[in-house]
Amino acid sequence: MARPVDVADLVGRAREGQPRAVARLISLVEDASPALREVAAALNPHAGRAHVVGLTGAPGVGKSTTTAALVAQYRRQGLRVGVLAVDPSSPFTGGALLGDRVRMQDHATDPGVFIRSMATRGHLGGLAWATPQALRVLDAAGCDVVLVETVGVGQSEVEVAGLADTTVVLLAPGMGDAIQAAKAGILEIGDVYVVNKADREGADITARELRAMLALGADVRDERAGGAVAGWRPPILKTVASRAEGIAEVVEALAAHREWAVAAGDLVQRRRRRAADEVLALALATVGTRLRAVPPEGAPPGGTAGGSAGSEAQGLGGSTGARLGGTAGARLGGSEEQGSGGTAGARLLDALADEVLAGTTDPYSAADTLLTHL
Ligand code: GDP
Repeated sequence: MARPVDVADLVGRAREGQPRAVARLISLVEDASPALREVAAALNPHAGRAHVVGLTGAPGVGKSTTTAALVAQYRRQGLRVGVLAVDPSSPFTGGALLGDRVRMQDHATDPGVFIRSMATRGHLGGLAWATPQALRVLDAAGCDVVLVETVGVGQSEVEVAGLADTTVVLLAPGMGDAIQAAKAGILEIGDVYVVNKADREGADITARELRAMLALGADVRDERAGGAVAGWRPPILKTVASRAEGIAEVVEALAAHREWAVAAGDLVQRRRRRAADEVLALALATVGTRLRAVPPEGAPPGGTAGGSAGSEAQGLGGSTGARLGGTAGARLGGSEEQGSGGTAGARLLDALADEVLAGTTDPYSAADTLLTHL
């Protein structure tokens, strides 16, 4: 049914920046193609260069408009830009709908811009493993910056933010205001805050409220981050994205955060956590697949490897939604911080994440290794 995939050819053409090859690779990710294992292995050594910027905020706040304005600004600087609109709430037939949403018509024919939407529902832990793979495609295709925009609402916004090097939290006066943002948990995740729709009344009040709330949270933030990465004070900027006002300043702030993150070691830490999350998500997806392959009845009790993997997987599967997408690695890491000295499993996952980052192994092989140690 599926067309055979010549992975080497596809990856080669994607690395030359051919849009159709890039699109095809991301479709393979979306379809959870069996070829992905080979794709990931081929791409991984060529990834890690792009600055991954996540944009998050309540629907209607101006994410799409801001994304389009940022693309224009980056293009003026001569940079290649990727845009990935992730919809974790739709099954993967949502492409057309998403295509409409992303306000990118101006950039549709620009060879320096890759725009893709991706829906991830319907795959176990899809957000956690599919997003990094799609990012890797855009990264390997030579994008200097990849903007990740979340479509849809809820916790997923926080999760997608965990996939970025730099996270932009958008607010607008009167909607998605500071208090709502605090409730949604997005005040803790911003590296750069943008009060959009500054042409509307109340933008200064929103910015002031935000400043007060961030000041309250600053100590907690620093403590949580640990000494090595403390020291970034998220700026609060005002924009009118629909007129591209303030967008150059946002681009400057993003570059400044990136520079700081490299120097402070924050970038490496984030990427290590992301790689760990991805490996864990792939391992869980494998467990899910194996679980589904276990015969429902008549299997000898405890007599097969499938049986024990099955019961274990059910425990994992029950909380998969909560664990995947940015929290899994953090939890494992967390148990280490709590003074237990780190479980062997957490240490193994960290070591595997480092190998994935270094390009010496691919995330699928790392997930296999993880599972053999269970
Ligand atoms: P998203 O749902 O967060 O992606 O928000 P959109 O980018 O789709 O924007 C929602 C609406 O707000 C659209 O009608 C935009 O034209 C409008 N909008 C975006 N930025 C601004 C702005 O700076 N000022 C005003 N007045 N409207 C804006």
